[in-house]
Amino acid sequence: MIREELYSKAMTDTVKIVTEGNPVLRNVAATVPVGEIQSERIQKIIADMSAALYKTEDGIGIAAPQIGESVRIFIASEEALEHDSAGAEKSKTDWRHFAFINPEIVNQSKKQLEDPEGCLSIPGVYGTVQRSEKVKIRAYNEKGEKVERGASGLFAILLQHEVDHLNGILFIDKAENLRKISVD
Ligand code: ZN
Repeated sequence: MIREELYSKAMTDTVKIVTEGNPVLRNVAATVPVGEIQSERIQKIIADMSAALYKTEDGIGIAAPQIGESVRIFIASEEALEHDSAGAEKSKTDWRHFAFINPEIVNQSKKQLEDPEGCLSIPGVYGTVQRSEKVKIRAYNEKGEKVERGASGLFAILLQHEVDHLNGILFIDKAENLRKISVD
């Protein structure tokens, strides 16, 4: 997911983020066997996702299908957590990345909010999506430990956007007021 106000096309050409139209984005991604989380293959996917996300100008989250890997993993940047705290001036690479493996949203608020969303796989397109204001998510981290955390605001929106990716759902399926911002 990306933040509209920071949109720029300045991704380096070494990053291979697949774009809409690639069928991998529409697959239901495979569960990662817990015993394989520490395997070289899964650790490499996580490292590649993190590198890809750091190389984007404005990405705050990325799901494995977006780098062509149909497994249930996504990464969320700490940047989304600090979105509302003014003055948090950090360079992109200072933000920590959190890996969520086999994530499940186990609780979500009835109260919803509507915010503009964009996606690294659909450059230049934005739309307003209704999401739960708060969610609780359960997952494994990159060490294979079970984690559960609550989230609200932008971080909650991000978690819902990324879980959707693992089920083959893109934000444009849910968005209203879709609009294309020209990139020059
Ligand atoms: Zn996305």
